[in-house]
Amino acid sequence: MDCLFCKIVSGEIPARKVFEDEVAIAFHDIHPQAPVHLLILPRKHVASLAQLASTEEDRNLLGHLLDAVKRIADEQHLGHGYRTVINTGADGGQTVDHLHLHLLGGRAMGWPPG
Ligand code: AMP
Ligand code: ZN
Repeated sequence: MDCLFCKIVSGEIPARKVFEDEVAIAFHDIHPQAPVHLLILPRKHVASLAQLASTEEDRNLLGHLLDAVKRIADEQHLGHGYRTVINTGADGGQTVDHLHLHLLGGRAMGWPPG
């Protein structure tokens, strides 16, 4: 499958990993939009949030990803707060079709996002 993030998961393409377990990995975004900008994603290929099923397995996957966000935010000393974003589809600004969460921190975030 020609998926950039699957290639990072398999190690074919390098990334600056900060976390990995049996379900998920996290690494630095190549174009950081904040002092801390990490991507958290499932090892399993799921194209987007819209493609997740309402099954126990996929609900557990989402819970696992959010739990990883919380643990990584602690490790990254983001006690002042952080932004978590999931872009979905063209209007959502998704550019890589493998579900991922952005974790942004280290500066005050604005609202609304662009
Ligand atoms: P999205 O636009 O929500 O699909 O986010 C995709 C993100 O992947 C963007 O923030 C890109 O900067 C980031 N990105 C693209 N290629 C790489 C790469 N090789 N390593 C790390 N991050 C990447
Ligand atoms: Zn993939």
